[in-house]
Formats: sequence, structure tokens, C-alpha cells
Amino acid sequence: MWFNFFYMVKWKLGLLFVFIIILFETNAQNYPQNYFRYPLDSLPNLVSPFGGLRDNHFHSGMDLRTNQQEGLPVFASADGYISRIKIQSIGYGKAIYINHPNGFTTVYGHLQKYSGKIAEWIHNYQYKNQTFEFDYVFEKPILLVKKGDTIGLSGNSGGSSGPHVHFEIRNTKSEKIINPTLFGIIPFDTFNPTIKKVFIYKFVSDGLLLKKELKIDQTHTTKLKEFTNVFVYNKQIELDEDQYGFGIEAYDYIHNQEDEKGIYEYSLKHKEKLVFKHTLNQFAFNESKYINTHIDFPFYKTEKVRIQKCFIDDGNEFSTYEINNEKGKIYLPANSLDTLKFEVIDNNKNTYILYVPIKVIIKKIDIQKITYLKSLKGEKAFYPLTKNSIKTKDFLFEIDAKSIYDTVFYNFGTLKPLQEPAQSTIYRIFNSSASLHKAADIAIKPYGINLKFQNKLLLAYYFKDRKDFRSAGGGFENGMVRGKASSFGHYFVTIDTIAPTIKQIFLNTEEAINDSLHYYFEIKDNFSGLGKYEGFLNNEWILLDFDAKSNLLTYHFDEVWKKQVADNKLSKLNNTAIIKPELLIRVTDKKGNVAEKSFEMPITF
Ligand SMILES: [Zn+2]
Repeated sequence: MWFNFFYMVKWKLGLLFVFIIILFETNAQNYPQNYFRYPLDSLPNLVSPFGGLRDNHFHSGMDLRTNQQEGLPVFASADGYISRIKIQSIGYGKAIYINHPNGFTTVYGHLQKYSGKIAEWIHNYQYKNQTFEFDYVFEKPILLVKKGDTIGLSGNSGGSSGPHVHFEIRNTKSEKIINPTLFGIIPFDTFNPTIKKVFIYKFVSDGLLLKKELKIDQTHTTKLKEFTNVFVYNKQIELDEDQYGFGIEAYDYIHNQEDEKGIYEYSLKHKEKLVFKHTLNQFAFNESKYINTHIDFPFYKTEKVRIQKCFIDDGNEFSTYEINNEKGKIYLPANSLDTLKFEVIDNNKNTYILYVPIKVIIKKIDIQKITYLKSLKGEKAFYPLTKNSIKTKDFLFEIDAKSIYDTVFYNFGTLKPLQEPAQSTIYRIFNSSASLHKAADIAIKPYGINLKFQNKLLLAYYFKDRKDFRSAGGGFENGMVRGKASSFGHYFVTIDTIAPTIKQIFLNTEEAINDSLHYYFEIKDNFSGLGKYEGFLNNEWILLDFDAKSNLLTYHFDEVWKKQVADNKLSKLNNTAIIKPELLIRVTDKKGNVAEKSFEMPITF
């Protein structure tokens, strides 16, 4: 018995010890330092940090500065193997993923071209599968790389708005994106972040939100002398007894760069107790859209300023928060003197602290101005964390349980249809300030169904103010035109029977002039969007490079052309008929409308 008891204790202690070691180990392993090198031949220098606030997403990597240039060598950040190659005419453009033995994956996006054996592998793959764009995941290591190997050249491919390298570090297994600064990839920066404004929110009734704005600048704050970056708001803010939420407009600044950058962390403490903290260490891709509830989205829509809230809505499940039991809201009892402490930290751990003294009084004060109204009387509502739908004989709008963050009041109705393009009534599911986390299922019954044009039907999103509309995709199925609605608004059924356009163009860029071995084309579609683009040289498939943002389709004269030129020479020697290489470009839009054009190719150089 006694023996067993001691044995048990020993065993349990042993287990605890092992547990502590595991904890320690995983912590130490979390973010290995100096393992990953900066992938460019320079000191870390960013255009944009990890987690920056963007439309519909948080920036998922670091944008590395290439000084407005393309063609800088991009190096493997550490030893590993190419685990994925993805080429898109949008998004990351030409991208490489490398798996490393320590459980992390590095990603390099917007490349101009690939290098060496990687480029060779891709070229073969593209010809074998007759596609420029593809997403290939390597089941086993085929292309190995050493730390510092050149994997490609920096560029501006895909949805990039200027030359740079988009660099990510991910957890290979979970695919969560991790802030690269945690691995020691940190650009030099001694500038402190700053809070520009503080916002006070009062939740008056369901849907009605009041807001007060405090300007935080030199005339409104006093610097505490013993510190360089601790400030106190000069005035005591008087509020009446109620529940409040807070928000900040905060930015980071970097030496020699004028624009405002994203911050790493911000927090709010009330009487030195943590109310809310948001830290950008890592997040999953499907969390990125929480940006639309993380910020005061209605304010952003009207003012184009992103206020980061210190409280969260019911439907906000972003994993980056540490919050009190009231989801970041604070109840302020009457007759109290309180202090709020806001703290902002940048990626270099430069800190800014702001104290705001608050006095809560019994008397009702009318300090707030109503900045926006979430509800209008008589409107219907969608509720968060549950399925919601609108169903009529000719219309369906259905949203998933996790599609909205808060109660959304909406206005539902129909509009008089547009004469020309509309093939149905215009439906309105409207809320000017709410966003959808996941696209809704939408279906609209068209007026009449002409069998000939059935497959040309699609949905249109209608901009009521501009009386303009854009494609919302979808297609005819079971008597209705069905698709996805990515936002609330106005929708109707329309038709697309117009083929894309193809035009040869002559670029006068340095590269284009120095290298005459390519043809450029501009391809465009009027409505549903480009679907497929193909090129054939005397019926032989050729690789065409497409850049969606510039509508540029490029044929780099490659081995197919060289072979045909050689064949041509041969036929000349043999006095047989000359086969002139003829380039056929075929472009199809998303509704199957096809355009074709042929171009004569040079036969000698
Ligand atoms: Zn980026």
C-alpha cells in the first residue's frame, strides 16, 4: 500500500516534470530566433508590416521594400523544400511556398519570375497541363533549397499595387500566419506609435449607438516628464452612469517613411485592470474578415478612418483578443473617479501610453452626439449566431449562422427594374453599414426563360446612387438564377452575351524594347469577367502569361516558336511549302462567350 502510494506520487511528480519540460520546450520552440534570414539582399525594410488594417482583411504577411524595382534576387529564408507553387493572375501572383524542417512554411509572393530548376519544373508543368495559372502542392520533397539559394526575382505580379515581395511565415500544420517579427525579422525603428483619437461609445438601446470623440494631440495632452512616451489627457471626461465601450485611432511610424503603418498590439485597462487587449502574433486566414467587426465599420464606411474598438460584438470570434467578462465593455458607476489606460505597441516594442481621467456623475449629461443609427423603426432584423433567411416565391436570401457579427436591421423590398439590362425585379436587402463575414446564398427568379440564353444569365449588383451595376456571378439552376452575395445591397438578374476583346499592344518599357522576343495583348471583358485564355501556334498550345490588373497577356517566344521557325527554315531548304507560324488567341468570358483573333508571327531573327 505505502509503496504504491509513494510510487503514485513519484509517478505523478514525474509526469508533472515531463509536462513542465514539454511546456518549456514548446515555448522555446515557438519562434526560433535567427533561423529565418531576410529574403532580400538588404537589411529588413518594410512597405507594410504584418497585420496592417486593409479592406476586408488584415495584412497576412510583411511587404518587403524593393525600392520601386523589380528583378531583385529573392532568397530561400532557410533550408527546406518547395512545398507548393501557386500562380495566379490576381492575388499573390507568382508565389513559392517552402516547408522547413522546424515545422514552419515561408511564402514569397508577387515574384516576377522563378529561378533555375524551379523555373524549369514550372515551365514543364505548365506545358504538360496546358495552363499558366495553377496551384500545385508537392506530396514529397522534389525541389530542395538551401538557405540563401535564389528562388526567383522580385516583381509586381498578381494583385500587387507596386513592386515588392510579400513574405509570410506560417505554421505548416495549422497554416496559421505568424508575425515574422517574432522570429527576429525586425526592421530598425525607434519611432513610437501614436494614438490620434479616442472614441467613447454608449449603447443607448438596441441599435442606437452614441459616440464621443476625443482628439489626442499636443494641445490636449501633457507628457509625463519622467517618461518620453506617456501622456495624460488634460481634461477630466464627465460621463453619466452607464455601460461604455472605447475605441482608438492608432498608427505606427517608421524612420524615413511618411505613411502610417499598422500597430502590433493595443490594450485598455480600467483602474489598472485589463479590459481589452488585441495582439497580432498569429491568425488563421478565415479570421481575416473579422476586420469588419474589429473596427467601427459604419464609421469607416462613411469617414474612411479605421477606429479599432476595445470591445467586441457577439459574433466576433477573432482569436487575437484577451478581454474581460463584458466583452470589453465597462460599466461606470455613479460618483466614481476612474482612469483609463490605453497602451499601443509597435512591432519593435516601441510603446505609447495614454491616461484618460474620467469622472462619473449622477446627472444625465448630453455630451454625446449621435453619429449613426443602426436601426430604423419598422425594419426587420437578422440576428447573429443563428441562420437567417428571406424567402418569397421569386426570391431567396440565406445567411449562415456565423455570417454577421451583431444584429443587422435591414430594409427589404423591390425596385422598379431597369429597362435594358434587368431580366428580373431588383431586390433590396439593404443595410448601409453592415458587412457579411461569409457570402449569402441568393436566388432570383428571372422574368421569362429563353432556353437559348439560359446559360448566359447571371446576377448583377446594383449601385443605386450611381445607377450602375457590376457582375455578381452565379448562374441559372432549377428555375432561378443562383449565386453568392458578398454584401447587402441591391441585386437583379441580367444577361451577358458579349464576348471579350483582344488587342495586340506595343509596350515601350525598357524590357519590351530590349527584348523583342514577345508579343503583348490586351484582353478585356465587359461584364461577367475573363474566364479562360488560350494561345496556339499553328494549333500547338503555347504558354501565355496573364496579369489581371493590367489586362496584359504576354507570349514570350519560347521553344514552340523556335521549333516552328526551324521547321520553316527546313521547308525553305527543301523547297517545300512555307508554314508561317500563326498565333491564335482565344479568350472566353465566365458566361462562355468566346473571342478569337489570329496574328502573324515573325519567322526569323
Ligand atoms: Zn503583402
